[in-house]
Amino acid sequence: MRVSDDRYSRDRLRFDIAVQFIQHEARTRTIRAWTGLSDDRIRKLYRSYLRDWRGARLTRHRGKSPQQVAFFMRTGRARQEAALLASLCRLLGALPPLPAPELARSLPGLARGELLCRAYEAYRGLVPDGVISFEHAVFLLTTLVLGEELTLGGCRDCGAALLVDRWSLRAPRCPLCDADHAQAPLAAAIPVEVPNVEVPNVDLPNVDLPNVDVPNSAV
Ligand SMILES: [Zn+2]
Repeated sequence: MRVSDDRYSRDRLRFDIAVQFIQHEARTRTIRAWTGLSDDRIRKLYRSYLRDWRGARLTRHRGKSPQQVAFFMRTGRARQEAALLASLCRLLGALPPLPAPELARSLPGLARGELLCRAYEAYRGLVPDGVISFEHAVFLLTTLVLGEELTLGGCRDCGAALLVDRWSLRAPRCPLCDADHAQAPLAAAIPVEVPNVEVPNVDLPNVDLPNVDVPNSAV
C-alpha cells in the first residue's frame, strides 16, 4: 500500500540520518531533535551500530551542545573553516540564501539533516583535520539561519565568503586581503588575484525555467 510504503521510506530515512549523525558523533539530544527518534531508539541504534561496526571508534559526547558563536570567530582558522562549511551548506541547500528566523523552530528535520550531513562530509573531505565538530556545524547552521549574531557575507575587497558579525559597522576583509592591506595600504587599490576557496563539484538542481508564451491579453 502506498501509505505504508511512504511510512516505511520515512522510517528508513529517519534511521539513515540517525546513523549518519551517530557517525559524526552528534549528541543524543541533537539526534532526537533532527530525526524525531526517541532516546531509547537512539540508544539501541547506537549499540547496534557499534556492534555492526566493531572497528568504529566513536566518542559519545555528553552535556550541552555548543552555544558560543565566539568559537567561530576566535581564530583565523576557525573563521575560514566556518566560512567554508557555511558556503557548502548554502551550495547544497541546507542554508537558505538569507537569514530566515521564521525557520528556527522547523529547522531540524530529515531533509535538512541529510543536506547538513552532505555539507559536513564535503567539509571534512576538504579539511580532514578540521576544527569544527558536527555539533558545531549544527550550531553554525542554526546561528546563520537565525541571523541574529552571524551572517555569511563577503570580504569587502575580494568578495571571498566570510562570516560576518551582524553588528559590525564595516564589512570585514578576509585574512589574505587583511594581510595585503596591512603590508601595503596603497597597493590595496591594485587588483590582485586572490585564490578562491575550492569547493567540490556538486550537482545543483537545474533552475532553467521553461519558456512560456504569455498571451498579451493576459492581465
Ligand atoms: Zn579578501
